Amino acid sequence: MADRIDETYVKDLRAKLRELNEAYYDLDQPLVEDQEYDRLLTELETIEREHPEWATADSPTVTIGGQASAVFTKVTHEVKMESLQDVFSLTELEDFLQRTKSQVQGTPEWIVEQKIDGLSVALEYRNGIYYRGATRGDGTTGEDVTMNLATLASVPKKLEGQVPSRLIVRGEVYMTEEAFANLNRSQEDLGQKLFANPRNAAAGSLRQLDSKITASRDLSLFCFNVQLVEGLTFATHYESLRYLETQGFPVIRYSEPVTETEDVLAKVAEIGSIRGSLPYGIDGAVVKINDLGLRTELGSTSKYPRWACAYKYPPEQVFTTVDDIIVQVGRSGKITPLALLQPVTVAGSTISRVTLHNEDFIRDKDIRVGDKVLIQKAGDVIPEVVQVDFSQRPPDSTPYIMPTHCPACGSEIVRREGEAASYCTGVDCPAQRLRRLIHFTSRDCMNIEGLGPANLQMLLEGGFITRFSDLYRLETHREKLMELPGWGEKSVTKLLENIERSKSNPLSRLLNALGIPQIGTAAARGLAQAFPDIWALAAATTEELQALPDIGPATAQSIHAFFAGESNRNLLHELEDLGVNMKSDTYAASDGANLPWTGLRMVVTGTLVSMSREEAEAKIRANGAAAQGSVSAKTSYVIVGEKAGSKADKARNLGVPILSEEQFLDVLADPGTLG
Ligand code: NAD
Repeated sequence: MADRIDETYVKDLRAKLRELNEAYYDLDQPLVEDQEYDRLLTELETIEREHPEWATADSPTVTIGGQASAVFTKVTHEVKMESLQDVFSLTELEDFLQRTKSQVQGTPEWIVEQKIDGLSVALEYRNGIYYRGATRGDGTTGEDVTMNLATLASVPKKLEGQVPSRLIVRGEVYMTEEAFANLNRSQEDLGQKLFANPRNAAAGSLRQLDSKITASRDLSLFCFNVQLVEGLTFATHYESLRYLETQGFPVIRYSEPVTETEDVLAKVAEIGSIRGSLPYGIDGAVVKINDLGLRTELGSTSKYPRWACAYKYPPEQVFTTVDDIIVQVGRSGKITPLALLQPVTVAGSTISRVTLHNEDFIRDKDIRVGDKVLIQKAGDVIPEVVQVDFSQRPPDSTPYIMPTHCPACGSEIVRREGEAASYCTGVDCPAQRLRRLIHFTSRDCMNIEGLGPANLQMLLEGGFITRFSDLYRLETHREKLMELPGWGEKSVTKLLENIERSKSNPLSRLLNALGIPQIGTAAARGLAQAFPDIWALAAATTEELQALPDIGPATAQSIHAFFAGESNRNLLHELEDLGVNMKSDTYAASDGANLPWTGLRMVVTGTLVSMSREEAEAKIRANGAAAQGSVSAKTSYVIVGEKAGSKADKARNLGVPILSEEQFLDVLADPGTLG
C-alpha cells in the first residue's frame, strides 16, 4: 500500500484498474499478470472499506467485467451474470463458510467445483432448441455470439426428453493448454500476434465477427450453472448439474454436496493437488451453496452472490535439497548457475533443477550445496527458489563460489562491467556451439524435428557437424548416421527429410535461428517484412534499421555488427548455396515504394465497428504502411475507434494526427488521398 493515501490516489488507482479491465476484458490483451491486478483491486477494496466517503457507484470494486463491444449485437441478460468474491487464504474461506452459515437456518450443503480460467457465456434454449449465446460483458449487457458458440461441437443444439420451455445455462468457454500451444504456433507461422495465455486466446477466439475463425480455434466449454429455467424445477444446484449432464452439456467437475467445513477444505485441497496436471488451466476452486432456495434468501451484492466464493490457490511451495550447483553455458557464452535438486513434484510437474540466475542471486539468498531450499511454482510460471532453511544447513557447508573457468572449454569466465551475468570468453567453446545449434533447430526457429539436444550432441561429438551449414550436408553421411546408437534407416530418412523441408522456411525463422543478439521471434518477423531478402538486410545501415518500428539503436547496432562479420557472411553464403531460403515471403505486403502509404506508421486503438483491429492492421500493411502497437512521436496517424483509451490521449499530447473510423474508411477507399 502507498505511503500517502488521499482521494487523488484512490482516483488514480481506479483509473489504473479501469485501464487494466479494458485491456483484459474488452481487448483480450492483459497488461499485467493476474496477481498484480488482484493486488491492486484488493488495495482499492481495503481503502474503500476504510474510507467509505471515497467509494463510488462505478468503482471497479463494485462493477463486473468489461463492456459489450459495439461490434456485436447487444444482449440484455435476464439473470445478471455475476462475478465471484475471491478469498486468498483458507482462513478467509473458513470465515466465509462460517459467516454464511450464521445467516441461514440449519446447516447448509456446499458443492465445490473447479474454477475454469476462461470466458463466461450464457446459452439460451427455447423449447429445447439452441436459441442464443452471449458473453458476460458488464454482467447486465453482453455480446451476441450465437453463431460463434454454435461452432463448438460441445454446445448441444437440441435437447431431448424432459425439455423446459426456456433454459439459460451459464458456462465457461476455455482453451486447453494443447489447443493454446497449437494456436500460437500457427499464429506465429502466419506472422500474427501471439496470445498471452489460454484465457485471452479463448476470449479473442470467441469474440470474432467471422464465426469461421471461431470454428477453427478448438474451443471447449464447461457449464456450471442454470441461470433460468421455465417448465421444470430444480431444488438444488446438484440436481440442475445432473440434469445438464443428461442433456449432454459438458459440466464442470463438481463434488458431492458436503456440510462440514473440513470436508469443504478437503475438496478444495483435492482440486489443488491435481490442478497442475489438468489439461486446462484453473485459477481456483468455487464453493457454492447447494440449496437454490437458500441462494435466493442470501441474495447478492452489486457484484457477486453471497452464496458462493472463489478460493484462489497460492503458488505451490515444497522443500527439497540442493544436490549440486552447476553452471550452464548459453549460446552467447552467458554462464547460468543451476541448482540440481532432489526431484520433487510442484504444481503438477517434477522439478529436478532450477535456475539460480547469477552470482548475485546466489550470494543474496546464500544458497549452498546441501541446503534445504523452498521451491515455488504457480501454474505455468517457471519454478524458483524462495529461500533457504538455514536451520537445516549442514555444519560443514561452505559458500558457493562461481567457477573462474568454463567447464566446457576451460576459457576464463568474466563478469562484464555493470552486468550481473558472467560470460565464457572462449571463441570456440563447444558448449556455446551446442547451444547455438539447439537454438537454430528449435521449434521457434528452423523447426527441425528429430534434432533434440542429445542428438545434436552426438552429431557434434561424432564430428558430423560443427556449424549450422553442416546440418544441410548431413545427407552425405547418410550411411554412417544409420550406424549411430539408436538410429536406423527410418529415423535417418525422416530426419533428412525434416532438414530438407526446413530449407524453405520463411526468412523470419532463419533470422531468428541465426542467434543475432537482441533478435527474437517478433523482431525477426519485422525484419522479414521490411526487407526483400537477407542480403538487403545485410546491406542496411544502422540509420535505416533504426527507422524501422521497434528497432532501437542497440538492436540496430547488433544487426549491423552481425552482418559486418566476415565469418557470418560466409556462413550465409554457404547456407544459400545449400538451398536455404533467404527471400522474404512477407515483404510483398509492404512492397517497395509503389504502395501509397509506404513509410507511414499507423496505430489502431479502441474498437472499430466495421472491422476487427486485425483486419484494420492488415489493410494498413497492404497499403504499405507499418501497423504498430504503440504511439510515439514517429507515428504518422492513429486510428481511433470507440472507447479508445490512453493511446488516443498520447496521440493528442504528441500532436499525432488522428483519424476517426469514418475517415479511415474514406482513405482506405482512396488511399492516395493520405500523405
Ligand atoms: P473471476 O474470474 O475471478 O470469477 C468469476 C468468473 O468465474 C465467472 O465469470 C465465471 O465465468 C467463472 N467461473 C469459472 N468456473 C466457475 C465455476 N465453477 N462456477 C462459477 N463461476 C465460474 O471474476 P472476474 O470478475 O471475471 O475477473 C477477475 C479475474 O480476472 C481475476 O482473476 C483477475 O486477476 C483477472 N483480471 C485480470 C486482469 C489483468 O489485467 N491481468 C484484469 C481484469 C481481471
